[in-house]
Amino acid sequence: MNEEAEALRKLFTGKNTLELARILADVFVARFGEHRGGKGEILKCLLPKGRAGSWSDLDRHITSFCKQFHLEHERHTEIIQFLDELRFVIEALPQRQDYKPPEDKEEYPTPKEAAYHFVMCSLCWRAVARRPLEKKTPLCHIHDLPSTQSEYRRRARMRRLVEERKLELVKSLPSLWELRRQHGRDLEKYLQGLCLGSHSSLPYLASYLQSLGKAPACLSLQTKRDIVEALEYPVYLHKLSPHIQEAWGCYFADRATYFKLLYVKLLTAEAWLAEDAKRQHGGKRR
Ligand SMILES: [Zn+2]
Repeated sequence: MNEEAEALRKLFTGKNTLELARILADVFVARFGEHRGGKGEILKCLLPKGRAGSWSDLDRHITSFCKQFHLEHERHTEIIQFLDELRFVIEALPQRQDYKPPEDKEEYPTPKEAAYHFVMCSLCWRAVARRPLEKKTPLCHIHDLPSTQSEYRRRARMRRLVEERKLELVKSLPSLWELRRQHGRDLEKYLQGLCLGSHSSLPYLASYLQSLGKAPACLSLQTKRDIVEALEYPVYLHKLSPHIQEAWGCYFADRATYFKLLYVKLLTAEAWLAEDAKRQHGGKRR
């Protein structure tokens, strides 16, 4: 799978979810035949709405597509392994988001579902709760500023440089699936080391999180959950509705359980923090 995963990564890079799903349907049929119907039917499983959508939705549909193969196909192990690896490849991509969903003010029915749809702040790496199909630029507690304010404009200008830096990190560091191959069951321990270790290959992130362990924040940094919470710090829970407060609880618990899913967030945080540090050393005011 190693070479194949690399080939897939190249095919997928720069694509949106619809383009990626089309390629995936082609690759799947070429490899496993039309057992699950033709390309069109597979595409329908991967993107039921038939248009580009969020990456978390695509991941969810790949997972349910994968579940169909448990115990019902002679090559099921191979297929499940293929789809599982594929999720790692997709998770580690610089994911392109170029769709504009229509606005809708309804809440998700359960906090768990709301947590599933958290997105990244457009001016840092922190998570932001969203309503279904909300169109407003996602901004975290720290960056929820009027777009006319200088701090907002400064960070908006930084975004391009941060994206470039993140791409460099994606290219120079091993991808998530490579790390999983190298570290196996110890992958999450390795990722915890990346967050806090003094020789981490994400040095700005490690020193930022270490600083949160000291005054004034004094956060505990012992467990995976502690690290997940530190990455999102500060979340002003008391300012949020009970529904969204509960969603945050689900989000923290989920990310602590599936810690490896934070890898892209870690790279994004490193890129923002590194760019911030460069600006400060350049003598510019925060
Ligand atoms: Zn932010």
